[in-house]
Amino acid sequence: MSFQMRDGVLHAEDVPLPVIADAAGTPAYVYSASAVRTAARRFVEALAPIARKQLLYAVKANPHPAILQTLAGFGFGADIVSGGELQAARAGGIAPADIVYSGVGKTRDEMAAALDAGIGRFNIEHEREGEVLSALACAHGVRATALLRVNPLVDAQSHAKISTALTDSKFGIPYPKAVLMYRRLAALSGLNLEGVAVHIGSQITDLAPLQAAYRRIGTLVAALRAEGHRLSHVDLGGGLGVSYRAGEPGADIAAYGAMVGRETQGWDVSLLFEPGRFLVAQAGVLLTRVLWVKPAQPHPFVIVDAAMNDLARPALYDAWHEFVAVRPRGSERFVANVVGPVCESGDRFAHARAVDRVEEGDLAVLATAGAYGAAMASTYNARALVPEVWVDGDGFDIVSDRVPAARIRPQRLPHWMDAQGLRAAVGR
Ligand SMILES: *Cc1c(COP(=O)(O)O)cnc(C)c1O
Repeated sequence: MSFQMRDGVLHAEDVPLPVIADAAGTPAYVYSASAVRTAARRFVEALAPIARKQLLYAVKANPHPAILQTLAGFGFGADIVSGGELQAARAGGIAPADIVYSGVGKTRDEMAAALDAGIGRFNIEHEREGEVLSALACAHGVRATALLRVNPLVDAQSHAKISTALTDSKFGIPYPKAVLMYRRLAALSGLNLEGVAVHIGSQITDLAPLQAAYRRIGTLVAALRAEGHRLSHVDLGGGLGVSYRAGEPGADIAAYGAMVGRETQGWDVSLLFEPGRFLVAQAGVLLTRVLWVKPAQPHPFVIVDAAMNDLARPALYDAWHEFVAVRPRGSERFVANVVGPVCESGDRFAHARAVDRVEEGDLAVLATAGAYGAAMASTYNARALVPEVWVDGDGFDIVSDRVPAARIRPQRLPHWMDAQGLRAAVGR
């Protein structure tokens, strides 16, 4: 178990969280190495029956190099969506050949840098991108290995903001246009088009939409082959959901592996997988301290030192994270609103929820925060980026520092505006 109560104190593996709070301060992200390994092992085992495959970790879920290195040990490459993530993947020890570049808005510079680095493949999202990539590859004297991302037009039945295969989605080529688009891109001399890619959304716990999407991709693969295209790869994307809320199950990974085996039988391709959240969500918590308990009707406000800039998911997607006291006061609970200090009403982690009773100065965690937590943090309200702590067994290390907002983006006056000039401007 990665985060569990022991002698009345919540631990990360064998380390009591108050020890980490003393060392790193709060708020802080705390990651469990064994939880990353467990999730990786479960994924690898579920897909063991698939003979030809490449596993890629979607770096955007959490780009920390310790996570990338751990996952590389299980054979994971990287799925990236920006030039910055290319650097993160390299820093995490991922070989260029094991990197796939996805995303709807790659710049020419980013594509050129990825070609320079010699990454394994590109997932192309639209025709013009394919044309430009082809021209850049020719200029580099190479052919870019690529897949065409297709929108299978199925509702992932997840939150609208993390569904990517609706009719008005910006991602991929709509399924009915895919054959025509594939034909055009396959003719480009700088591309080595090897197949198709699909990714319908995130936090998917019901496998039915994934199955429907894969079935459409199977039909498309057959249609493309009938046209004479040689397809050797299909990227099945990521999107598998985890349990955020006690009693609500995550995706059944073994059932997913079996479903993939059934649906892709006879495709005769190598399959790519791009899990992000599934591998890291449960490996992280956001450790926070209660600043104040403000009495209010009908429910008091528990004001913690973590906020929406540290963990954006509740404000962005109404996401649920369990709020758990590090030293519970018996089994006492109370109904409260758990909020952060940021000046936005949306800065709220729990609304009218029965939570562990906490008091001023208590430590608590927002659970299941390893994915899309630190990765989405900002410095809104000129708040610092919070440190990250890596725990493995009874050892821990602070693996990123608390960084004040002014250090992340040093801002200056225009060169003609010194302090005196500013006063003059105000006086005008
Ligand atoms: C975000 C994303 C993923 C990972 O999604 P998860 O829900 O975290 O598994 C995989 N592939 C692509 C193209 C993505 O945009």
